[in-house]
Amino acid sequence: MLIVMKPQATEEEIAAVVGKIESVGATAHPSRGSQVTLIGAIGDSDTEVRVAALELDGQPGVSKVVPILEPYKLASLSARHGERSTFEIDGRRIGGDHFALIAGPCTVESRDQLLDAARAVLDGGATMLRGGAYKPRTSPYSFQGLGVEGLRLLAEAKAQTGLPIVTELMDARDLEPVVEIADVIQIGARNMQNYGLLAELGRAGRPVLLKRGLASTIEELVMAAEYILKEGNPHVLLCERGIRTFESSYRFTLDLTAVPVLKTMTHLPIVVDPSHAAGRRDLVEPLSLAAAAAGADGIIVEVHPQPEEAICDGPQALRASEFAAYARKVEQVAQVAGKLPFLEAASTA
Ligand code: PEP
Ligand code: MN
Repeated sequence: MLIVMKPQATEEEIAAVVGKIESVGATAHPSRGSQVTLIGAIGDSDTEVRVAALELDGQPGVSKVVPILEPYKLASLSARHGERSTFEIDGRRIGGDHFALIAGPCTVESRDQLLDAARAVLDGGATMLRGGAYKPRTSPYSFQGLGVEGLRLLAEAKAQTGLPIVTELMDARDLEPVVEIADVIQIGARNMQNYGLLAELGRAGRPVLLKRGLASTIEELVMAAEYILKEGNPHVLLCERGIRTFESSYRFTLDLTAVPVLKTMTHLPIVVDPSHAAGRRDLVEPLSLAAAAAGADGIIVEVHPQPEEAICDGPQALRASEFAAYARKVEQVAQVAGKLPFLEAASTA
């Protein structure tokens, strides 16, 4: 159930509605939009019946009460009355008119490698830096990431460049050190349905970039986001990174249809990862331009100073020396799709 307050509703009236919702065992999720305050009243179907019986549309300050029909109550576009979420992440905006270009190596390998990559993506116009300290590898015998030392290097890269950090968390036991340095916590495709971990992130106080599982439907992705939102964290970015299909000419099938479809379902910003879908450098630019054209709110892309020497995902990493030209093209297409230019904003941030 969504309670739409009147534009002139007072704080007392908002608090009174929240109190009534909570009095019948539902959770109240207020969100202050540009025009009005919306209050989601969320609970199981019995609780929803009790909320309906409150007849909140007769309460002072309430404009109307509308049911949220989708199973993803807080993520749905109707939960925000059609208004899209935009988030500010350490001075950079994403969502609405704002495009984010998140770039950096697959994994943090060494101080030199990370700082070289960070400077290159900063100079090229990236708005955030990516890099994994904990890596989900197919083989347990492959490099698993530098762990805490990797996090320390990411903090150093942020201190040098000012770029907000996007880094993956795989295990709730590492939450504390990751929260300390991450501006956005990435949940990888393989953990999309790790519901205990998602609930932890709902309480962690950091924005989350949630990647679509290798074989998950679009609705399963949005339902996974709901686990984070339900715990009180509204800052979730959804990420399409390719799904497994019968096609074997490349690594995964980048489902770009998911971008406009997700926009009809949810108010959350949508990010596309062309690198892991392609598995090959030559496909990364065309897929990025297509993602921007499809209306993505951001791209997360792998960039390495020396891809031939990369420990992980070298064949798909853009060369740092080629990143600036790539970023200019992405910006042009994003602008055609209605986004504001981001390169200048990035360099003056
Ligand atoms: C990554 O971003 O490096 C990664 C492992 O991604 P995914 O979870 O999408 O495979
Ligand atoms: Mn990778």
